[in-house]
Amino acid sequence: MKSRWSDKEAMGLEGLDVLVYTSRLIGMDTNLVVWGGGNSSVKVKGTDHTGRPIRILWMKSSGSDMRTITPKQFTPLRLDDLLPLMKRDAMTDDEMVAYQSRSILEPGAPKPSIETLLHAFLPPTHIYHTHADAICALTDTPNSDEIIEKVYGKSVAVIPYFRPGFLLSKRTGEAYVKRPGLRAIILDKHGLITWGESAKEAYLETIRMITLAEHYLGRRRRPRVRSVRPPVSKETRHAVASAIAPTLRGEIGRGKRMVLFYDDDPAVFQFIHDPKAKSLSQIGPFTPDHLMHTKPWPLFLEVKGSSRPDPEKIAAALSKSLAQYRERYVDYFNRHKTPGVTILDPNPRVILIPGVGMFTTGKDRRASRITRDIYKHTVQVIQNSAAVSSYVSLSPRELCDFEYWPMENFKLTLLPPEKELSRRVALVTGAAGGIGKAIAERLAVEGAMVVLTDIDLEKTRTIAEAINQKMGEMNSIALKMDVASESSVRKAFENAVLAYGGLDILVSNAGIAKSSPVDRLSLSDWDRSIAVNATGHFLVSREALRIFKAQGLGGNIVVVATKNVLAPGKDFGAYSASKAAQTQLSRILAIEGADDRIRVNMVNPDGVFQESGLWSKEIREERAKAHGIPIEKLEDFYARRNLLKTRIYPGDVAEAVLFFASDRSAKTTGAILPVDGGIREAFPR
Ligand code: ZN
Repeated sequence: MKSRWSDKEAMGLEGLDVLVYTSRLIGMDTNLVVWGGGNSSVKVKGTDHTGRPIRILWMKSSGSDMRTITPKQFTPLRLDDLLPLMKRDAMTDDEMVAYQSRSILEPGAPKPSIETLLHAFLPPTHIYHTHADAICALTDTPNSDEIIEKVYGKSVAVIPYFRPGFLLSKRTGEAYVKRPGLRAIILDKHGLITWGESAKEAYLETIRMITLAEHYLGRRRRPRVRSVRPPVSKETRHAVASAIAPTLRGEIGRGKRMVLFYDDDPAVFQFIHDPKAKSLSQIGPFTPDHLMHTKPWPLFLEVKGSSRPDPEKIAAALSKSLAQYRERYVDYFNRHKTPGVTILDPNPRVILIPGVGMFTTGKDRRASRITRDIYKHTVQVIQNSAAVSSYVSLSPRELCDFEYWPMENFKLTLLPPEKELSRRVALVTGAAGGIGKAIAERLAVEGAMVVLTDIDLEKTRTIAEAINQKMGEMNSIALKMDVASESSVRKAFENAVLAYGGLDILVSNAGIAKSSPVDRLSLSDWDRSIAVNATGHFLVSREALRIFKAQGLGGNIVVVATKNVLAPGKDFGAYSASKAAQTQLSRILAIEGADDRIRVNMVNPDGVFQESGLWSKEIREERAKAHGIPIEKLEDFYARRNLLKTRIYPGDVAEAVLFFASDRSAKTTGAILPVDGGIREAFPR
């Protein structure tokens, strides 16, 4: 393993600053820790609030991620308050946490890691704890003691598995005292602890330990027997994955909806197609910290009778296998639970499907990606352990004990509360225009994953990137889609499903306008209006309905229509007629969708000019002519003709769309909500 240490970067850093620097170096390496795993500390001399000199332990706070850690995510504790605890025989988690809280130096500092005492009881100044893949490949074997001794001789002590807490900390502290000259401590089925008098020394010791493990594994790793050739092309595989994802999402989302992450990376594929993969995958995680993300085991789906993945067969097998998985999980919970705990979601977080790949699930795309990342490391550790000996994990009792450990579940309470549209996936057509952009942004702010589609991919991408900057990586994606093309619509929906696993909300917003009196209207302008405004709406709604029905979780279509449907305007024949067709189809969709809890509602805006693609210079000129006014008076004209004498902005339309897209309007379907400042002729009736 390569060291990332830079003397230049670390120059002049000391105490907490060098701890932040080194923690980030460790966090950058996903072979050391992933997504919030591991912890680090430094012991420094300082003063308390009265100015008295004290020794301070700066400890990583619970749940923080080393990759992006900041000084504020470390907790200062009075070391001399913690050290006397070493003399105690036992302490419950609650006693320990309460004691730790009282030893915090700064009011308002975050809650320190549950492994704080372990760091306090080890005398060296700098301490790092990682869940390194290479170390766990050695510890997750039945003869780990023997293997570790072979690799490190007597320079390392191994502590048998204990759930983190007082006892593990005490045993670690004792091991250090007992064996002078010890270089590191390995926690069985868990990870590595290294130290040093300087941060550099402690960091390099981590790298050295892991490098030794990697060399050992490298010598023993079996050459790949054969590289697995996927049974179908990537394109077909993705089509299959996209066809089955909504069924999977529906099956596991009956309680709370999930967002899926699909991965068919060659390393994953290789593992799934190993003849032993099914049994190996059912053993357990390589370090207990991962349980929260991956659950004890993945679902390994076996579909008999065909070497080529068949979506229908897979979908049918999924239902049955998921039911069996849940049964197994409930049984595991009932057998091993501690009194007073309630069962968590019994569905798998990782689903392995031969011929297709891996799906992981989470409350949003970030969470499902974390599970994906962790499982990819799990695959490596399983393969390496199996190569040097055989892979073992914790016992089912230990797994359940950790999975339902209140201290671990506490981390979940640190997450921000879920938003109104959390766990929902929305697709917006015509997202590059002013209204489409405002809708996409509004839905994203309320927590939805948003797929922005438009014929103008570049512009859509910029908008999606801006949303991601604000809301977090991968919250939205941009896809090119021409609503008037059946193949383009199909492809975009397939990609949307591959990105998030399904769909909950379709906002059919794409539209074009052409102004001309009927006797001068060309057939091509008429056809194009029908193609985009009517046929386009049909094509996207049809795809959405298919996904909604496969999921069985209901569905929501919000249509951005126009005031012209109810109150048509002169010279606006192609626009008004095609939008009327869209509206009438939407009413049919409301009727047909109701049995499947699919709601369809319409928003009728009027004269929204801001950033509008619809209101081109040409159309402004034409509409000004139709109304007999100069072009510069057009926006004023639209504002003055409504009852409230007000201008309509994209954000006003987005607000109405949010109302229909959310459960705020749960009892409404087939309705029209005007956003036009009040136009008497356009009152819905
Ligand atoms: Zn740990």
